[in-house]
Amino acid sequence: MKVLVINSGSSTIKYQLIEMDTEQAVAAGRVERIGYDDAQHQHLVAPGVLPHKPDGYEFREVAPVLDHTAAIRRVLAALTHREIGVVRDATEIAAVGHRVVHGGEKLTRSVRVTEEVKREIRATFDLAPLHNPANLLGIEATESLLPGVPQVAVFDTAFHATMPRVAYLYALPYVIYKRHRVRRYGFHGTSHRYVSRRLGELLGRPSLEGLNVVTCHLGNGASVCAVKDGRSVDTSMGFTPLEGLIMGTRSGDVDPGALPYIMAREELTPAELNSMLNKHSGLLGISGISGDFREIEEEMERGDSRAREAFEMFEYRLRKYIGGYAAAMGGLDAIVFTGGIGENSWRLRGAIVRNLAFLGLELDEDANVAGRGERRITTEGSRASAWVIPTNEELVIARDTLATVQEAEPAAIPGR
Ligand code: ADP
Repeated sequence: MKVLVINSGSSTIKYQLIEMDTEQAVAAGRVERIGYDDAQHQHLVAPGVLPHKPDGYEFREVAPVLDHTAAIRRVLAALTHREIGVVRDATEIAAVGHRVVHGGEKLTRSVRVTEEVKREIRATFDLAPLHNPANLLGIEATESLLPGVPQVAVFDTAFHATMPRVAYLYALPYVIYKRHRVRRYGFHGTSHRYVSRRLGELLGRPSLEGLNVVTCHLGNGASVCAVKDGRSVDTSMGFTPLEGLIMGTRSGDVDPGALPYIMAREELTPAELNSMLNKHSGLLGISGISGDFREIEEEMERGDSRAREAFEMFEYRLRKYIGGYAAAMGGLDAIVFTGGIGENSWRLRGAIVRNLAFLGLELDEDANVAGRGERRITTEGSRASAWVIPTNEELVIARDTLATVQEAEPAAIPGR
């Protein structure tokens, strides 16, 4: 059985077709610059899927793509193509899972897409104006092209719905929460959920009951999550993805009192302030070089002092969050690193683990630097452990999609 996973952004759609028996992606790709004459479609077929292309197959096409419907039409055409298609026709796609960034307070688990669910997603547009409208465009485009195929929405915020009120309320006038839903929601939930569950499997404790875990999703966006007994009890992103860690181009935590001051001094509009905080801050803002962690490390190696400062600030902020979450949970049993930085930067992981030795972590240098893929990077004797677990959000979306569709079916047939 195959599930199509779609991540629809405002001008880009990423997708994977996953064979659920093996949980492997048989094809994947992206359509970029939707709405432009020079949109680009990149499509990959995994090795071993097509008998006549044993090493896999890749194509790139540049062509006008008018809108999201046209983009998904191209995706379906590639998946069902006469020569390089991985399914005979679209009826082989059992269900479609969509990443939706914001579920608000009501959509707190993966759900089958219905008119009511779409209304609820629309009701969260003002909470995630850059993401949710684009996510819904992808859903509606898929509905129109694959009528009758069940669609499931999987929310980035959902894993954090278990946060207690002390963690999610801001100390603003309560009416601001009641009137405008301003509270902490958290994001990257699908990734935090995947790596924490996977850690449970690796530890032989699938429920994670009794364990205090901190998962660090460190990519262009970055967040930390406190996972107690398998549930998110706190996370560093808040009302928007801007709160918390230093990121590629986002500031993370800043004294809110500095913001009206900066606005007045620089004569910024709210939109310009938002742009400064989201696009011109973080590693890029500090270093003046780049928001890309790898480039920061390269420049640091060459002796650039601002790149070094950006690295050190990133590490310091992350370390404070991990320590804070150990305090919030009353202990620390394991840390997980994931995302492009967490999976690849041995320098950052090494610094974090060494600097947190007081929490019972002892770094295994070899495993950290020379190891590959999923692994433990602390010694056998280390009281707490640290791990690298590559994330797989698409797989979580596909699994949730299948589970949601299957659980919905018996209910629809009374007496079965
Ligand atoms: P996104 O959040 O957009 O999905 P990723 O999870 O792919 O992004 O993470 C991108 C980040 O990972 C970038 O800052 C990039 O520089 C960093 N990164 C990727 N590979 C390495 C590496 N080998 N060493 C250090 N940083 C890396």
